[in-house]
Amino acid sequence: MIDFEHVSKTYETHNSENVALEDISLHIDEGEFVWVLGHSGAGKSTFIKLMQMEERATGGTITINGQNLNKIKRKKVPFLRREMGVVFQDFRLIPTMTVYENVAFAMRVTNISTKHIKSRVPFALSLVGLEDKMDRLPDELSGGEQQRVAVARALVHGPKFIIADEPTGNLDPEMSMDIMQLFEAINKVGITVVVVTHEHQLVHKLAAKYHNRIITLAHGLVKSDTADPLVAEEYAQLAAERGYEDEEFV
Ligand code: ADP
Repeated sequence: MIDFEHVSKTYETHNSENVALEDISLHIDEGEFVWVLGHSGAGKSTFIKLMQMEERATGGTITINGQNLNKIKRKKVPFLRREMGVVFQDFRLIPTMTVYENVAFAMRVTNISTKHIKSRVPFALSLVGLEDKMDRLPDELSGGEQQRVAVARALVHGPKFIIADEPTGNLDPEMSMDIMQLFEAINKVGITVVVVTHEHQLVHKLAAKYHNRIITLAHGLVKSDTADPLVAEEYAQLAAERGYEDEEFV
């Protein structure tokens, strides 16, 4: 489903080269639930941007749903993007549109029939428990509810997988827990879920309960992967050679 093979990404700026990801290899299977954990600067946003084709890898191969992103034709990019639902930290809802319209809008831009929209939108909103708040405006909802609308919008196309980018960054601890559990529920219906976050305490708490896989990024490398314990040994060796400190999460 999601395959990174020796993927690197270096950003060239006017006076420096920033290595954001270095030789990343990982594989995420259909139906998996994966936390990608790392603190600021570890390469998390770059990981997401490469999958969404907002940025291109400078080395290696990314394959998503059988499509090699190095070879994909430009006109196929929107279709690939529709196969993944993305949820952002800042919700990205349109303030002047109702909850229903915010979710429907995501479908209207893709020429889907009104009849299909009328059945899909309430279905997506019921999955996140907001069917009774369809006519509200975003600012009439709590932060957690706004994030649920964003999750419904990500689900409305029936994507093969969901990527969440720091989905709890703007939420208090209780709402964060609710949203994280919502992702668990989404995964239970067969959708692959990748949640990228620095919230390491929350992740460890939930992963212990649900036995999720955790991939940790540090210095643009995979520091550990609970599905592949050998990765941690390789990283430890490299980190010792390079003199990386063992960083604490903040
Ligand atoms: P995270 O999301 O984990 O904080 P990022 O992927 O944003 O990490 O960044 C990883 C590294 O790449 C950082 O050192 C950052 O400064 C650098 N970086 C990210 N985006 C850019 C960019 N557009 N131009 C230059 N350097 C960048």
